[in-house]
Amino acid sequence: MKRPSGISLKEVCKRYGTPANSVHALDGVSFTIEPAMSVAVTGPSGCGKSTLLGVIAGLETPTSGSVSVGGRTISDLAERERALIRRHEFGLVFQADNLLPYLTALENVAQQLSMQPRPEDGERSLAMLACLGLADESGRLPDQLSGGQRQRVALARALVHRPRLILADEPTGSLDAASSELVIDLLLTAQRETSTTLVVATHDADLARRLDRTIRLTDGRVVEGRTVPSVLDGKASGA
Ligand code: ADP
Ligand code: MG
Repeated sequence: MKRPSGISLKEVCKRYGTPANSVHALDGVSFTIEPAMSVAVTGPSGCGKSTLLGVIAGLETPTSGSVSVGGRTISDLAERERALIRRHEFGLVFQADNLLPYLTALENVAQQLSMQPRPEDGERSLAMLACLGLADESGRLPDQLSGGQRQRVALARALVHRPRLILADEPTGSLDAASSELVIDLLLTAQRETSTTLVVATHDADLARRLDRTIRLTDGRVVEGRTVPSVLDGKASGA
């Protein structure tokens, strides 16, 4: 059984552009996320949410500071090692579903398990699709599915290898309210059942409230971190 990953950022800065003309996408960000917690990263467009998920996923390297995930300093590793960790230990969900258009729903999910398809990958992928209510759609191509169905296939792909950490960047950003609700319900159910760490970047305050904790960014800095509601239950005052 894989253990969920804790996350620790220390004074992380990410600058884009040249020194003379640079954007501070992240500007001295430090926080810790305990294993198996669900955390929302919120804030206005351009505040650094995607960059933050990118440095945690090892898709971006910080300009300075360190990022450790599951006890390893991912910001110090070579791209090849980061890619292996991403593939085996992380589940990534993006606003656009990023499904391969020429593969069926089932093949898209199975691809997460191995590059060369094995019979057991098909069974496991089908079971995951069935969990997400898509057993009958498994043989369809992405363009034969609705937006909500495609995002559920993307969720199945992100969960099928039982990741230690799920990183979701505006996973409901392109969906209508009903599909958004369903995708979030499924994401939270999967996270709780497998006690995986979950980090979701979102604009949506209702969604953020459903997670254990909120990290709020403005201009690349943490301005507020709402604490765990279970700790405050019954004692919370005001907001
Ligand atoms: P959010 O996801 O909250 O909208 P981003 O992390 O995408 O914010 O962007 C933070 C800031 O960094 C923005 O000002 C954005 O324009 C800038 N930025 C993001 N990615 C790049 C990039 N690859 N090159 C240059 N600037 C970038
Ligand atoms: Mg973004």
